[in-house]
Amino acid sequence: MAANILLVEDEPAIQELIGANLSRAGHHVVAAGDGESALRLLRDALPDLVLLDWMLPGMSGIELARRLRQDDRTRAIPIIMLTARGEEQDKVQGLETGADDYITKPFSPRELVARIKAVLRRRSPQSTEDPVEMSGLRLDPLTHRVTAAGRVVSLGPTEFRLLHFLMTHPERVHSRPQLLDQVWGDHVFVEERTVDVHIRRLRYALEATGHQHLIQTVRGSGYRISTQIEA
Ligand code: CA
Repeated sequence: MAANILLVEDEPAIQELIGANLSRAGHHVVAAGDGESALRLLRDALPDLVLLDWMLPGMSGIELARRLRQDDRTRAIPIIMLTARGEEQDKVQGLETGADDYITKPFSPRELVARIKAVLRRRSPQSTEDPVEMSGLRLDPLTHRVTAAGRVVSLGPTEFRLLHFLMTHPERVHSRPQLLDQVWGDHVFVEERTVDVHIRRLRYALEATGHQHLIQTVRGSGYRISTQIEA
């Protein structure tokens, strides 16, 4: 279960230690030393999860968590707070601000990796390896295989990620910028109509079994996957 993780931690030694452990667990880590740098990195690409130190120079971890929760673009990113504080009151404040979990330093690398996995499973199902299925369409992230009515569907890597994201977030409408953020991971250098191109390819690949109807265009808004046939 590889995830892109943004680590916000001002102490170089801890940053390095956590980074090394997460890389060993198969994650891709980008690190920032303060909240402002973290916001700059977030403008370029959205991570699957933010590991956020509470005590940072300048903007505090709590303030950064609050900002991420206020912005539509970053609202859904899971946040795990890291802190040396173990006070119950701090924990409550951290969780109220929108953190998904809270780890008190010092912690074991094994605990950190396990907590990350648990939060990812809960908050971003597309970054776990659990198979997803709807109306006979099945996607298995582990084997990277998609079948429709038992037949293997051949998809390019982008169509695969796009379908995975849609299937793990069914019925909701996703705008093109949201899909670029979630599927491409970088909304700056890709044009929005790129999404349309890949949606078209995805539908084409699903035509043989009639599953292309699951991928619906919501005019003026974006796309969704749904088992409800549109009128
Ligand atoms: Ca710190």
